Amino acid sequence: MKKLLPTSTAGSLPKPLWLAQPETLWSPWKLQDEELAQGKHDALRLSLQEQQHAGVDIVSDGEQTRQHFVTTFIEHLNGVDFEKRETVKIRDRYDASVPTVVGAVSRQKPIFVEDAKFLRQQTKQPIKWALPGPMTMIDTLYDAHYKSREKLAWEFAKILNQEAKELEAAGVDIIQFDEPAFNVFFDEVNEWGIATLERAIEGLKCETAVHICYGYGIKANTDWKKTLGSEWRQYEEIFPKLQQSNIDIISLECHNSHVPIELLELIRGKKVMVGAIDVATNDIETPEEVAETLRKALKFVDAENLYPCTNCGMAPLSHDVANAKLNALNAGAEIIRKELSL
Ligand SMILES: [Zn+2]
Repeated sequence: MKKLLPTSTAGSLPKPLWLAQPETLWSPWKLQDEELAQGKHDALRLSLQEQQHAGVDIVSDGEQTRQHFVTTFIEHLNGVDFEKRETVKIRDRYDASVPTVVGAVSRQKPIFVEDAKFLRQQTKQPIKWALPGPMTMIDTLYDAHYKSREKLAWEFAKILNQEAKELEAAGVDIIQFDEPAFNVFFDEVNEWGIATLERAIEGLKCETAVHICYGYGIKANTDWKKTLGSEWRQYEEIFPKLQQSNIDIISLECHNSHVPIELLELIRGKKVMVGAIDVATNDIETPEEVAETLRKALKFVDAENLYPCTNCGMAPLSHDVANAKLNALNAGAEIIRKELSL
């Protein structure tokens, strides 16, 4: 019988001190060339073991081989000039210096496929692999070539589809697209955002997920959250169309957020990765707190569709905090499994 409530993480996990400075986004690598390649593999193995030790059911690479969830993918594309930088407002929220699209975009070679094969060799557990979504990619760039967010998103969707098909062939069970931008640009999401995501998953036989959160626990995001009021209803704008889409799983921020849990009713029938761990605080959830979030979600998500997860990636947290949170996630899920079996 399939295990109920399989746990997973949204994506990134802390890197070891010898590979990159912990608790830092865009932290530069501390190794070079062949040592860097070796170090990334060692870090991936370590991250897998930590997930297994905590009892995580659907494991990942912890994003150990990438510096950032969007830019590392873009670095491997033709048509993007990383020397030519412009300051743009990311997620309509904070200024960042980003590379420029200067010509037609295409993939030079497979980006994460060798890493996925390496992870596949290490475990028989289901594997989830995260890629950036098309809308979040265009929102992290300055476009001097297509001069259309939609056109560029369709081009990225084609490239993501090539990569996703090769990840599937490498043995990845769930391919996840990270789309924090879906929580900001509702009109575009409904006009072409979900459509470009469906282009990115075209022809895939493995399961597919979209992760939509309120961002890492960095200051720009926590400041933004303070402006959102007591009820966060952003998901309400995009759930009806997502419910109709071909995406299998929707990964959401729930614990400690002000998202009214009844919004989950709008995606009834979908599998839901319910964020039961807050990544914006060092406070460790108790198993009972995790269980309480899952109990609330169970009113709107059938048990066989409920996947306990973290709110977002944990790259900015310390190793100890992240591991304690993973333990709490699994202990909380176990409480609910026992309740459901009674
Ligand atoms: Zn996230």
